[in-house]
Amino acid sequence: MRKTAIRTVKHLLFPNRCPGCGQVLDMDQEGFCPICQKEIRLTAEPVCKRCGKPLEREAEEYCTDCKKTEHAFIQNKAYCVYEAGAKNAMYRLKYGNAKWVGEYFAKKLVADYGDWLRWRQPEALIPVPVHPKRQRERGYNQAEVLAKYIAHQMTETYGGEMLPVIPAVRRSRYTTPQKELSVTLRRKNLKKAFKLDKNVVKSRGIYPDSMKTLFQRVLIVDDIYTTGVTLDAVSELLLAGHIAQEVYAMTAVIGQNI
Ligand SMILES: [Zn+2]
Ligand SMILES: [Zn+2]
Repeated sequence: MRKTAIRTVKHLLFPNRCPGCGQVLDMDQEGFCPICQKEIRLTAEPVCKRCGKPLEREAEEYCTDCKKTEHAFIQNKAYCVYEAGAKNAMYRLKYGNAKWVGEYFAKKLVADYGDWLRWRQPEALIPVPVHPKRQRERGYNQAEVLAKYIAHQMTETYGGEMLPVIPAVRRSRYTTPQKELSVTLRRKNLKKAFKLDKNVVKSRGIYPDSMKTLFQRVLIVDDIYTTGVTLDAVSELLLAGHIAQEVYAMTAVIGQNI
């Protein structure tokens, strides 16, 4: 009885909203409203074995992009396609101070790919950084918010100690918004945009043994996968900097036709 009352008050003060259109949901509802839900395209099999993008044909193993590009990460998993309601949801997470959207996507990612993640046994989650200036404006890094909720949800689902979220990579300079650049330019631009965090370098050691890395496996977390250029840049840095031997990735959403 008391629990119900608390829930009612919570619903009145902080009602659940649809991450897509922002509409207030019924007390027992969570996630996308029925209208937005209809447009959510999950990354159900067949998906690209590399980036996790849904494939047109079952017989294919990799998407057109991954066939021609060698990615530095081993595999990425995304919850749904970046379109319709999912696009609005990412906008809310990024610019609308809506951390609850990150929580929702983390729950969905763990429900669909928790087993996959568990089997990979990453020792740390590494969020893709945003530039400090943007982070100050926004008050948070949406990838870090997502990573923290994923770590929390993994423990909630499977028990065990919470995976650490380590901001091992920093943004070293302000970059032009990526969508305005060609893929080749993005790669060039991004290569210089990231650097390893000082403290992580310190715990790795200044002169790392060439065979030794700080972690065996890590999981990079980001909100959106478009061309994989960002994940590649971060992965390359972690590999070259002896931070990890293997890099996996998880993103809330993934672009379809690029
Ligand atoms: Zn909606
Ligand atoms: Zn692919």
